[in-house]
Amino acid sequence: MKPYTRVYAEIDLDAVVHNMQAMQAGLAAGAKMIGVVKTDGYGHGAAPVAHAIDPYVAGYAVAAIEEARNLQLHGITKPILILGATHPSRSRELAEYGIRPAIFTMEQAEALSEAALELNRGRAAVHLAVDTGMSRIGLSCDEAGACLAAEIGRLPGIWVEGIFTHFARADEADKAPAMRQWEKYREFIRLTEEKGLTVPIHHAANSAAIIELGGTHWDMVRAGISIYGMYPSDEVERTEVKLWPVMSLHSFVTYVKEIPAGTEVSYGGTFKAERATKVATVPIGYGDGYPRNLSGKGSVLIRGQRAPILGRVCMDQLMADVTDIPGVRVDDPVTLIGRDGEERITVEELARAGGGFHYEIVCDIGRRVPRVYMRDGRVVGTKDYFEDRYEDFLSG
Ligand SMILES: *Cc1c(COP(=O)(O)O)cnc(C)c1O
Repeated sequence: MKPYTRVYAEIDLDAVVHNMQAMQAGLAAGAKMIGVVKTDGYGHGAAPVAHAIDPYVAGYAVAAIEEARNLQLHGITKPILILGATHPSRSRELAEYGIRPAIFTMEQAEALSEAALELNRGRAAVHLAVDTGMSRIGLSCDEAGACLAAEIGRLPGIWVEGIFTHFARADEADKAPAMRQWEKYREFIRLTEEKGLTVPIHHAANSAAIIELGGTHWDMVRAGISIYGMYPSDEVERTEVKLWPVMSLHSFVTYVKEIPAGTEVSYGGTFKAERATKVATVPIGYGDGYPRNLSGKGSVLIRGQRAPILGRVCMDQLMADVTDIPGVRVDDPVTLIGRDGEERITVEELARAGGGFHYEIVCDIGRRVPRVYMRDGRVVGTKDYFEDRYEDFLSG
């Protein structure tokens, strides 16, 4: 039994496992996987996904120290890397919890080195970030950057466990820009080795490179969007690594009525019925992360058929045209993402229809939407964001 009556996202952990196995089958010899579970596992729930992929990964990657701690508090014990910058004032926590930061300035490195020495529990493991073309974070990819890398490697409280870069354009059909980044990265590694820095783990590949640039797998790859069953872009080829969609989004009809021709629907009256129309109201909206830019464009599935969205998506509700779908009743299931009979709506379709981005759509599915975790066709857990407790605040 699914315990929710308004809206819920179903997370298919069997598909997650399938996606990991499909990627693993194509990995270069010796390459290990990092599971990227930032932004609460791209909206799927970081802790449940992390546990599901644990047998397939050597570690995890997140974007914030809070995300890393949250995984550890949920029993994740493998190494966790923070992909972006971590403020030097958080160095003690990094050292204490063994969370690996991306390091690319001497200031960050010195602060962490000192914190590690103070704690007296050995060197703090770090991954050096190298900027080969994103212009986001990372050591400059030149002689000066290589000198800095070697200098950081000599700090008494630091152990450079990894060195990585990030592709800006690996998801494009033309792989030349990505390969130029790769060559720069290789050259940078050569420079740092010349200066006496040896690093055990090299990693560059994101999902696009995992699927299409086997030559860049090296010691480790960072799988993100592909864990969740989506391809990075339409240009990435889909025959080698078959991914299965993981998230589906469900709601229920709360009201059905007939409106005469000429009646407007929703804010702004952007839809006006040209014929007598049967309208179903569905209690999901942009407040749940369902994109408002699907107003008048998207559709939902009811009784295995497509029901076009009428007028604007509201914060908490939307209306759909069910004139041509016989027998629609209150409490009928509504599928906003996923399969119903022969019909299917993918996240990619929503992105195309609304002019959005598929990564963003899943990340944005909100905290008002509980997640229901399925394995072998059974509910194995739920994540309900309304379990927050504020007793101290209320009594104070
Ligand atoms: C988010 C991120 C990834 C994962 O990218 P996908 O395209 O989702 O596979 C990998 N590396 C870095 C540095 C990232 O920020």
